[in-house]
Amino acid sequence: MGADPSSAARLFIVSGPGGVGKGTIVNALVERDPRLWLSRSWTTREQRQGERDTAYVFTDRDSFERRIAVDGFLEWTNFLGNYYGTPTPDPVNGRDVVLEIEVDGARQVKALRPDAILIFVLPPSRQEQERRLRGRGDAEDKVRQRLQKALDEEPVGMAIANHVVVNDDLERTVGEMMEIIRQHRLAD
Ligand code: ADP
Ligand code: 5GP
Repeated sequence: MGADPSSAARLFIVSGPGGVGKGTIVNALVERDPRLWLSRSWTTREQRQGERDTAYVFTDRDSFERRIAVDGFLEWTNFLGNYYGTPTPDPVNGRDVVLEIEVDGARQVKALRPDAILIFVLPPSRQEQERRLRGRGDAEDKVRQRLQKALDEEPVGMAIANHVVVNDDLERTVGEMMEIIRQHRLAD
């Protein structure tokens, strides 16, 4: 097993409803800030058309359940019928960990690590979230499910968040998140 996550540097959680832009944002953050270490989640969902092989560790239910049994996840959840989980982080020394996860996982991590910094991302509007989900190529039923789920996720996420950010313009949002990260580093 990897290093004790409690001895690692800071832990940033980026959460928010599906299609809000979390994946896009965290990719931009880790590209710009080499001190950030992005955790790669495991999932049992199928790879999307055009989705990078490195977006997740794509796996099957048996393998996922075997990893649960050996306590190999910091958190895991069942989201719309598929498992998603964060393997126990093992960052290179001195780097801050970034998790991009849904709200139930964020709640679990905050309970385990109250010092974790949760940045909750909201869409500028429901219509724009829908447009982004469609633009990404999600099937119609997936679009509906994610929009419906957002109604439950948003109040929970906003209640436990340290910061709430509206992802309107991508550049502006990434800049705001980098500033949040900078302020937390300064405060330690
Ligand atoms: P999530 O990880 O939250 O499910 P994604 O990062 O996959 O969302 O983004 C969903 C879609 O929205 C992608 O096609 C992405 O390129 C697009 N997107 C992300 N942020 C913005 C933004 N600020 N403005 C317009 N489109 C965006
Ligand atoms: P998607 O299928 O759109 O890639 O992901 C569905 C949701 O699961 C998104 O909100 C995404 O952030 C979240 N997610 C991705 N990885 C994990 C993880 O390891 N744990 C949890 N709890 N959620 C995750």
